[in-house]
Amino acid sequence: MSLDIKTLVDKYDTPLYVYDFNNIAKRYQELKGAFDGKKSLVAYAVKSNSNLAVIKHLAKLGAGADCVSIGEVKRALKAGIAKYKIIFSGVGKRDSEIREALQKDILLLNLESEAEMKRVEMIAKELGIEARISIRVNPNVDPQTHPYISTGLHENKFGVSIDSAKRMYIYAKKSEHLNPIGIHFHIGSQLTELSPIVEACEIVADLVRSLKAIDIDIKFFDVGGGLGVVYDNEITIKTHEYADAIIKAIKGLDVTVVMEPGRYMMANSGIFLTRVLYEKQNGDKRFVIVDGAMNDLLRPSLYSAYHKIEAVQKDGEKTPADVVGPVCESGDFLGKDVPLPPLEHNDILVVHSAGAYGFTMSSNYNTRNRVAEVAVLDGKDYLIRKRESFDDQIKLEEVCDTSWL
Ligand SMILES: *Cc1c(COP(=O)(O)O)cnc(C)c1O
Repeated sequence: MSLDIKTLVDKYDTPLYVYDFNNIAKRYQELKGAFDGKKSLVAYAVKSNSNLAVIKHLAKLGAGADCVSIGEVKRALKAGIAKYKIIFSGVGKRDSEIREALQKDILLLNLESEAEMKRVEMIAKELGIEARISIRVNPNVDPQTHPYISTGLHENKFGVSIDSAKRMYIYAKKSEHLNPIGIHFHIGSQLTELSPIVEACEIVADLVRSLKAIDIDIKFFDVGGGLGVVYDNEITIKTHEYADAIIKAIKGLDVTVVMEPGRYMMANSGIFLTRVLYEKQNGDKRFVIVDGAMNDLLRPSLYSAYHKIEAVQKDGEKTPADVVGPVCESGDFLGKDVPLPPLEHNDILVVHSAGAYGFTMSSNYNTRNRVAEVAVLDGKDYLIRKRESFDDQIKLEEVCDTSWL
């Protein structure tokens, strides 16, 4: 990102998320372009970064949205994503969420169990409508990624087996209130190998063919998200190879290929900026204490995820340091053994690849205010989320009567 970090920090303070909106567009167009001439829908995984401005930007480019709660569906609609491009996934949907999604007439409800299908059928019947559905199948392939973000094995909670999916489709086909038009899988996140995706596509394409034979016509073939990105020195999947492999695996099927990328779109479109408070040496160990913490960027603590960290405009010999925040947890770190020059109060560190699962996983732990978010487009910066205040944090408690205490 070619931006003047010092200027941004002076203007918006730290900690701060900054997103490169030109890069978001570039990523979207690259993926969409790889499917040129084919029917495809890039349904952005809203959970990776659900800022309304981010979604609006993608909506204008023509993207759809993959949502995992009714809140995300509402965000997508509010940001201007067309309803016929919105998918509602998730392993546990409340009745009220199902009802609202059906009333909003979005493209698909993606079902993850037989029990859920029965609930959707009942609610659609109450509403006197036919629910467009897809079924998330679990192709049982090993995505070769971190176990916490692997989702396509039978041991994971997601989806149903190929056999139960087939039974569900047959049931849905007969139901007056279900219209099975999609099939879905999502085998994991941060995928850097093409072979598990191809394997899953082939298994699921076979199912689609066998459904076709019994007059069940699947129109949306959803390969999920999970395209990996470079955090460190990963070798990632090239979009044209991804597209070619999918198109080859589903050869002969007349379907729209749906993708649900989140990380691919956002991770390297965002940075997290934090300010050095102090340096400290405990025995042999060097700590750099910063004003950003695990509540702002959880991935290092949660998954031991690596984010490259660099000091802005700072020279000197680099020695390893743990970059830690002020939160009262030993797990509160942004980086371990990070090579950094000697640092002083108010120096700025850039935490790279922080655009996905950064702000959206943030919390108020330790009564810390959620940070501000800024977009940069064509060299200009725009505030897209105000920094939270103490009053923002306590307002829902303040309205409660505590005179009983
Ligand atoms: C999380 C998720 C995604 C997005 O995953 P990325 O790794 O960010 O691309 C897509 N689809 C489903 C169903 C998900 O749960």
